[in-house]
Amino acid sequence: MVHDSVVRIGLVLPDVLGTYGDSGNATVLLKRLEWRGIRGEVVQLGVGDPVPNSLDIYLLGGGEDRAQTLAVSHLTEHPGMQQAAANGAVVMAVCAGLQILGEDFTGSDGVTHGGLGLLDVRTTPGSSTRAVGELLTLPDKELFADPMTGFENHQGHTQLGASARPLSRVVYGTGNGEGHDGAYQGHVLGTYMHGPVLARNPAFADLMLTWAVGSPLAPIDVPAISQLRNERRRAVQQMANRRKRLLR
Ligand code: GLN
Repeated sequence: MVHDSVVRIGLVLPDVLGTYGDSGNATVLLKRLEWRGIRGEVVQLGVGDPVPNSLDIYLLGGGEDRAQTLAVSHLTEHPGMQQAAANGAVVMAVCAGLQILGEDFTGSDGVTHGGLGLLDVRTTPGSSTRAVGELLTLPDKELFADPMTGFENHQGHTQLGASARPLSRVVYGTGNGEGHDGAYQGHVLGTYMHGPVLARNPAFADLMLTWAVGSPLAPIDVPAISQLRNERRRAVQQMANRRKRLLR
């Protein structure tokens, strides 16, 4: 999967899909490769640039409704990412990015746009209140064990079709709006979490890197990281307990 021992990461349209610092996901992947002595390279693919089908990982971020339609036209005209995904490349998309990977999405103006068809999901405007705030979820057991956290800010709600699996189950927050957050199908992943999501969820970053490299990765042994992870586990547990008490 990885060419010339370099993991090549495409940052897809950060000029229109990069509203909430999601480009930081590329930095996290690079750093986690570097800590393991693996070379990585980030390729910025802006509006107007061709999209190569030879990269190992493609990252898409969030954006507003108009940016989404612009992104779909560009990626339809330059289908390199879709071709790479069909060959097993890893694609990870956040919020607006998740929505455009689906079959279709309807913006708050009520207009439905065709998506890129990489995920069997559809998005429609959710309830009148926009989902804004912290999101806490438990990932699909097939993927990894650590709970996930992120920040969400979206109007759209996403329904999954039969071919997509939910990425995680919501403990706190809105996510897709049906009790789950995000979706995955093969190596294509989507979530509503900003953060950037890979900075807040290193296990998610390592899942993507394992898929891209095609073999298990060496653990990263930084004491401060395990300390932070333990603190976070405790915080997540406290949040879950608080929620249980509130629902009682
Ligand atoms: N415009 C989309 C929505 O509101 C996506 C927003 C985002 O990417 N944060 O649902």
